[in-house]
Amino acid sequence: MLLEIDDISVYYGKIAALKGVTVAVDEGEIVALIGANGAGKTTTLKTISGLRSVAKGAVRLAGRDITNVPGHERVALGLCQAPEGRGIFPGLTVLENLHMGSYIRKGDVSADVERVFSLFPRLKERQKQAGGTLSGGEQQMLAIGRALMAQPKVLLLDEPSMGLAPKIIQQIFEIIQEINEQGVTVLLVEQNAAQALALAHRAYVLETGRVVRSATGRELLNDPSVRAAYLGGD
Ligand code: ATP
Repeated sequence: MLLEIDDISVYYGKIAALKGVTVAVDEGEIVALIGANGAGKTTTLKTISGLRSVAKGAVRLAGRDITNVPGHERVALGLCQAPEGRGIFPGLTVLENLHMGSYIRKGDVSADVERVFSLFPRLKERQKQAGGTLSGGEQQMLAIGRALMAQPKVLLLDEPSMGLAPKIIQQIFEIIQEINEQGVTVLLVEQNAAQALALAHRAYVLETGRVVRSATGRELLNDPSVRAAYLGGD
Protein backbone atom coordinates (compact mmCIF):
# COMPACT_ATOMS: atom_id res chain seq x y z
CA MET A 1 0.00 0.00 0.00
CA LEU A 2 1.21 3.49 -0.79
CA LEU A 3 -0.46 5.17 2.17
CA GLU A 4 -1.62 3.51 5.37
CA ILE A 5 -3.00 4.79 8.60
CA ASP A 6 -3.00 1.99 11.06
CA ASP A 7 -5.27 1.95 14.10
CA ILE A 8 -4.94 5.66 14.84
CA SER A 9 -6.59 7.47 17.70
CA VAL A 10 -6.68 11.25 17.87
CA TYR A 11 -7.96 13.43 20.72
CA TYR A 12 -9.04 17.04 20.96
CA GLY A 13 -8.47 17.53 24.67
CA LYS A 14 -10.28 14.64 26.30
CA ILE A 15 -12.58 14.03 23.36
CA ALA A 16 -11.66 11.20 21.02
CA ALA A 17 -12.19 12.29 17.41
CA LEU A 18 -10.70 9.09 15.98
CA LYS A 19 -10.90 5.77 17.82
CA GLY A 20 -8.65 3.27 16.08
CA VAL A 21 -9.11 4.19 12.42
CA THR A 22 -7.39 2.07 9.77
CA VAL A 23 -7.39 3.21 6.14
CA ALA A 24 -5.17 2.06 3.28
CA VAL A 25 -4.71 3.58 -0.15
CA ASP A 26 -2.99 1.69 -2.94
CA GLU A 27 -0.95 3.37 -5.63
CA GLY A 28 -3.19 4.62 -8.45
CA GLU A 29 -6.43 4.47 -6.48
CA ILE A 30 -9.07 7.04 -5.72
CA VAL A 31 -10.27 6.32 -2.19
CA ALA A 32 -13.12 8.24 -0.57
CA LEU A 33 -13.93 8.81 3.08
CA ILE A 34 -17.58 9.50 3.66
CA GLY A 35 -19.62 10.05 6.80
CA ALA A 36 -21.85 12.49 8.62
CA ASN A 37 -20.75 15.82 10.12
CA GLY A 38 -18.29 15.27 12.91
CA ALA A 39 -17.53 11.65 11.95
CA GLY A 40 -13.80 12.39 11.81
CA LYS A 41 -13.14 12.74 8.09
CA THR A 42 -11.22 16.01 8.26
CA THR A 43 -9.32 14.83 11.33
CA THR A 44 -8.23 11.74 9.38
CA LEU A 45 -6.85 13.91 6.58
CA LYS A 46 -5.13 16.23 9.04
CA THR A 47 -3.49 13.24 10.67
CA ILE A 48 -2.18 12.10 7.31
CA SER A 49 -0.88 15.52 6.33
CA GLY A 50 0.70 15.99 9.75
CA LEU A 51 -1.51 18.80 11.07
CA ARG A 52 -2.67 16.64 14.01
CA SER A 53 -0.54 14.32 16.07
CA VAL A 54 -1.79 10.88 17.04
CA ALA A 55 -2.21 9.42 20.51
CA LYS A 56 -1.94 5.91 19.15
CA GLY A 57 -1.30 4.19 15.82
CA ALA A 58 0.93 4.83 12.83
CA VAL A 59 0.95 6.65 9.50
CA ARG A 60 3.02 5.01 6.75
CA LEU A 61 3.91 6.21 3.28
CA ALA A 62 5.37 3.62 0.90
CA GLY A 63 6.15 1.45 3.90
CA ARG A 64 8.01 4.18 5.80
CA ASP A 65 6.70 5.17 9.23
CA ILE A 66 6.06 8.93 9.02
CA THR A 67 3.97 9.22 12.20
CA ASN A 68 6.46 11.67 13.71
CA VAL A 69 7.55 13.44 10.54
CA PRO A 70 6.43 17.11 10.60
CA GLY A 71 3.80 18.25 8.09
CA HIS A 72 6.07 20.37 5.87
CA GLU A 73 8.43 17.43 5.42
CA ARG A 74 5.51 15.21 4.40
CA VAL A 75 4.85 17.55 1.46
CA ALA A 76 8.37 16.87 0.24
CA LEU A 77 7.73 13.13 0.64
CA GLY A 78 4.73 13.40 -1.67
CA LEU A 79 1.69 14.06 0.50
CA CYS A 80 -0.13 17.22 -0.39
CA GLN A 81 -3.46 18.49 0.84
CA ALA A 82 -5.83 20.92 -0.82
CA PRO A 83 -7.50 22.16 2.36
CA GLU A 84 -11.17 22.42 3.25
CA GLY A 85 -12.26 25.99 2.67
CA ARG A 86 -9.70 26.13 -0.14
CA GLY A 87 -7.11 28.22 1.73
CA ILE A 88 -5.81 30.11 -1.26
CA PHE A 89 -3.95 33.43 -0.88
CA PRO A 90 -6.62 36.03 -1.77
CA GLY A 91 -4.19 38.90 -2.40
CA LEU A 92 -1.93 36.94 -4.73
CA THR A 93 -2.68 36.32 -8.38
CA VAL A 94 -3.67 32.92 -9.70
CA LEU A 95 -0.15 32.40 -11.06
CA GLU A 96 1.47 33.51 -7.78
CA ASN A 97 -0.79 31.12 -5.88
CA LEU A 98 0.37 28.28 -8.13
CA HIS A 99 4.00 29.21 -7.55
CA MET A 100 3.39 29.07 -3.78
CA GLY A 101 2.44 25.43 -4.29
CA SER A 102 5.86 24.59 -5.66
CA TYR A 103 7.89 26.43 -3.01
CA ILE A 104 9.48 23.19 -1.87
CA ARG A 105 11.01 22.62 -5.28
CA LYS A 106 13.95 24.25 -6.96
CA GLY A 107 14.30 24.98 -10.63
CA ASP A 108 11.87 25.58 -13.44
CA VAL A 109 8.24 24.88 -12.63
CA SER A 110 6.76 26.24 -15.87
CA ALA A 111 5.92 22.74 -17.15
CA ASP A 112 3.87 22.17 -13.99
CA VAL A 113 2.08 25.49 -14.46
CA GLU A 114 1.23 24.44 -18.02
CA ARG A 115 -0.04 21.09 -16.78
CA VAL A 116 -2.34 22.82 -14.28
CA PHE A 117 -3.52 25.23 -16.98
CA SER A 118 -4.30 22.34 -19.32
CA LEU A 119 -6.42 20.72 -16.60
CA PHE A 120 -8.03 24.04 -15.70
CA PRO A 121 -8.17 26.32 -18.77
CA ARG A 122 -10.22 28.76 -16.68
CA LEU A 123 -7.20 29.37 -14.46
CA LYS A 124 -5.04 30.14 -17.48
CA GLU A 125 -7.53 32.80 -18.61
CA ARG A 126 -7.47 34.29 -15.13
CA GLN A 127 -3.82 33.87 -14.25
CA LYS A 128 -3.29 37.56 -13.46
CA GLN A 129 -6.46 37.91 -11.40
CA ALA A 130 -6.29 38.04 -7.59
CA GLY A 131 -7.21 34.69 -6.04
CA GLY A 132 -9.74 36.33 -3.71
CA THR A 133 -11.80 37.62 -6.63
CA LEU A 134 -12.31 34.20 -8.22
CA SER A 135 -15.66 32.43 -8.00
CA GLY A 136 -16.04 29.57 -5.53
CA GLY A 137 -15.55 26.95 -8.23
CA GLU A 138 -12.49 28.72 -9.61
CA GLN A 139 -11.00 28.97 -6.11
CA GLN A 140 -11.47 25.23 -5.69
CA MET A 141 -9.74 24.67 -9.03
CA LEU A 142 -6.90 26.89 -7.83
CA ALA A 143 -6.60 24.99 -4.53
CA ILE A 144 -6.32 21.69 -6.40
CA GLY A 145 -3.96 23.18 -8.97
CA ARG A 146 -1.72 24.59 -6.26
CA ALA A 147 -1.56 21.20 -4.53
CA LEU A 148 -0.55 19.60 -7.85
CA MET A 149 2.36 22.03 -8.15
CA ALA A 150 4.10 20.08 -5.37
CA GLN A 151 3.99 16.97 -7.63
CA PRO A 152 2.28 14.87 -4.96
CA LYS A 153 2.25 11.10 -4.96
CA VAL A 154 -0.96 11.29 -2.97
CA LEU A 155 -3.34 14.21 -3.36
CA LEU A 156 -5.49 14.74 -0.26
CA LEU A 157 -8.75 16.57 -0.97
CA ASP A 158 -11.03 17.84 1.77
CA GLU A 159 -14.57 18.38 0.50
CA PRO A 160 -13.77 19.71 -2.96
CA SER A 161 -17.50 20.00 -3.73
CA MET A 162 -18.31 22.17 -0.72
CA GLY A 163 -20.49 25.17 -1.54
CA LEU A 164 -20.41 24.62 -5.30
CA ALA A 165 -23.26 24.41 -7.83
CA PRO A 166 -24.02 20.91 -9.17
CA LYS A 167 -22.62 21.66 -12.62
CA ILE A 168 -19.31 22.85 -11.18
CA ILE A 169 -19.16 19.86 -8.83
CA GLN A 170 -19.49 17.61 -11.86
CA GLN A 171 -16.59 19.42 -13.54
CA ILE A 172 -14.38 19.23 -10.45
CA PHE A 173 -15.04 15.49 -10.11
CA GLU A 174 -14.22 14.90 -13.77
CA ILE A 175 -10.93 16.72 -13.31
CA ILE A 176 -10.12 14.69 -10.19
CA GLN A 177 -10.61 11.59 -12.30
CA GLU A 178 -8.32 13.00 -14.99
CA ILE A 179 -5.65 13.83 -12.41
CA ASN A 180 -5.89 10.25 -11.15
CA GLU A 181 -5.60 8.89 -14.69
CA GLN A 182 -2.39 10.91 -15.03
CA GLY A 183 -0.95 8.83 -12.18
CA VAL A 184 -1.78 10.72 -8.98
CA THR A 185 -3.26 8.68 -6.15
CA VAL A 186 -6.20 10.48 -4.52
CA LEU A 187 -7.71 10.37 -1.04
CA LEU A 188 -10.93 12.33 -0.99
CA VAL A 189 -13.13 13.42 1.91
CA GLU A 190 -16.70 14.19 0.90
CA GLN A 191 -20.11 14.97 2.33
CA ASN A 192 -21.38 14.58 -1.20
CA ALA A 193 -21.43 10.80 -0.85
CA ALA A 194 -23.20 9.87 -4.09
CA GLN A 195 -20.68 11.57 -6.33
CA ALA A 196 -17.70 10.54 -4.22
CA LEU A 197 -18.74 6.87 -4.32
CA ALA A 198 -19.34 7.02 -8.06
CA LEU A 199 -15.81 8.35 -8.55
CA ALA A 200 -13.90 6.28 -6.00
CA HIS A 201 -12.42 2.85 -6.57
CA ARG A 202 -12.90 2.14 -2.86
CA ALA A 203 -14.39 3.98 0.07
CA TYR A 204 -14.59 3.95 3.85
CA VAL A 205 -17.59 5.00 5.89
CA LEU A 206 -16.73 6.78 9.13
CA GLU A 207 -19.13 7.09 12.06
CA THR A 208 -18.21 8.90 15.26
CA GLY A 209 -14.50 8.26 14.90
CA ARG A 210 -14.66 4.68 13.65
CA VAL A 211 -14.63 2.97 10.28
CA VAL A 212 -17.93 1.10 10.05
CA ARG A 213 -17.79 -0.05 6.41
CA SER A 214 -15.30 -0.31 3.62
CA ALA A 215 -15.94 -1.63 0.13
CA THR A 216 -15.74 -0.59 -3.50
CA GLY A 217 -17.46 2.67 -4.35
CA ARG A 218 -19.99 0.81 -6.45
CA GLU A 219 -20.86 -1.67 -3.67
CA LEU A 220 -21.47 1.15 -1.19
CA LEU A 221 -23.46 3.10 -3.74
CA ASN A 222 -25.81 0.13 -4.10
CA ASP A 223 -25.94 -0.76 -0.42
CA PRO A 224 -29.42 -0.07 1.04
CA SER A 225 -28.17 0.93 4.50
CA VAL A 226 -25.55 3.28 3.05
CA ARG A 227 -28.17 4.71 0.71
CA ALA A 228 -30.55 5.28 3.60
CA ALA A 229 -27.93 6.93 5.80
CA TYR A 230 -25.88 8.96 3.32
CA LEU A 231 -27.63 9.16 -0.02
CA GLY A 232 -30.99 10.54 1.00
CA GLY A 233 -32.59 7.09 1.06
CA ASP A 234 -33.60 7.10 -2.57
P1 ATP B 1 -17.52 17.66 8.80
O1 ATP B 1 -18.07 16.85 7.68
O2 ATP B 1 -18.59 18.36 9.57
O3 ATP B 1 -16.37 18.52 8.43
P2 ATP B 1 -15.75 15.61 9.86
O4 ATP B 1 -16.21 14.22 9.63
O5 ATP B 1 -14.71 16.14 8.97
O6 ATP B 1 -17.00 16.57 9.89
P3 ATP B 1 -13.99 16.31 12.02
O7 ATP B 1 -13.89 17.74 11.62
O8 ATP B 1 -12.84 15.42 11.77
O9 ATP B 1 -15.29 15.66 11.37
O10 ATP B 1 -14.37 16.27 13.57
C1 ATP B 1 -14.41 15.07 14.34
C2 ATP B 1 -14.78 15.41 15.77
O11 ATP B 1 -13.72 16.15 16.39
C3 ATP B 1 -16.03 16.25 15.91
O12 ATP B 1 -16.73 15.82 17.03
C4 ATP B 1 -15.47 17.67 16.13
O13 ATP B 1 -16.36 18.45 16.91
C5 ATP B 1 -14.21 17.40 16.87
N1 ATP B 1 -13.21 18.46 16.57
C6 ATP B 1 -12.70 18.75 15.36
N2 ATP B 1 -11.81 19.75 15.44
C7 ATP B 1 -11.75 20.10 16.73
C8 ATP B 1 -11.02 21.08 17.47
N3 ATP B 1 -10.13 21.88 16.87
N4 ATP B 1 -11.23 21.15 18.80
C9 ATP B 1 -12.10 20.32 19.42
N5 ATP B 1 -12.82 19.38 18.80
C10 ATP B 1 -12.65 19.26 17.47
